[in-house]
Amino acid sequence: MNLYYKYLPQLIGQTDLSRNLKVLKELGFAGVFFPYYKPAYSNNGNKRQVYYPLEKANEYARQTGLKFGVYVACFQSSRLWAKENFSPPVNHTGTSYIPDGHYFPVCPNNPMGMDNFYRIVERLAKLSPCDFYLFEYLRFPFNWQKEDLDVQYHLPKFCYCPFCVTEFSSVMGEVVSYASQIMDYLAEWLDWRSNVITNLIGIAHEALAKKGRLIISVPPLALIDLPFTTGQIPGSITDMGCFLSPKLYHPSKPNNLPWIEDILDQYRLEINLNKLFPAMHVRSQDEIDQCLQLGDKYQLAGALLTIIPPAMN
Ligand SMILES: [Zn+2]
Repeated sequence: MNLYYKYLPQLIGQTDLSRNLKVLKELGFAGVFFPYYKPAYSNNGNKRQVYYPLEKANEYARQTGLKFGVYVACFQSSRLWAKENFSPPVNHTGTSYIPDGHYFPVCPNNPMGMDNFYRIVERLAKLSPCDFYLFEYLRFPFNWQKEDLDVQYHLPKFCYCPFCVTEFSSVMGEVVSYASQIMDYLAEWLDWRSNVITNLIGIAHEALAKKGRLIISVPPLALIDLPFTTGQIPGSITDMGCFLSPKLYHPSKPNNLPWIEDILDQYRLEINLNKLFPAMHVRSQDEIDQCLQLGDKYQLAGALLTIIPPAMN
């Protein structure tokens, strides 16, 4: 299995990109994933941030013999939240989402979020081809880092914003606005949500699949809970020809190999594992070796690693 490095400019500090890429090549990485967005925050202790334009980074990676991927947050944006007329996602009790940490979710039915998504796809389509396009947060809001991963609720937590209920009502041909009403139409509501997400993935696929491979990021939930919680249907994503990238880390599961294997075993029942391209956090060479062993054991397409310092120092 090939390992790919998720490049986080804020973790690297002021070093020369082409030198970093050579180090990654020497360490055995097959490629590098670069952020679409310049990091939104600028103060990072005494390390000065650097950001290279995507085209330049792509060129350097190729010169170094590395594959090049770009990763982009779709419906997650503190920039959109900062806009005056932004309307946040709403939960089933009618309460607006309150940002917690770095997660600023945007409803996929929010016109501002949709415009942003179309702009991202359009721009990526104009740039030189990348080997991979990793779409993160291409789903309904779910703060997976802060949530219990054992999904026990009867309605998805988000989103019940005016855009969602209006759109759903027009599909149903009657006004459906309260959670209690939605409960009566739960199957239709879940279908409709999945259609919204599948259509958006289809738009990205249509624009980019000829240039490179699409990868859709999903939270580390049990496979059966994904459509309910996020609107993402793993089987239809891989049928479209995209890779799936479950995030195989969680604050409550540090170094938890049995947990990772449990998720992969569930996937194995429904998805061809060579369509899986998980994202993992590693802290040491031992953990990198562990990922390689997992990749060989499960025959994964690849793995995207975030190296948590101090391993990189
Ligand atoms: Zn909504």
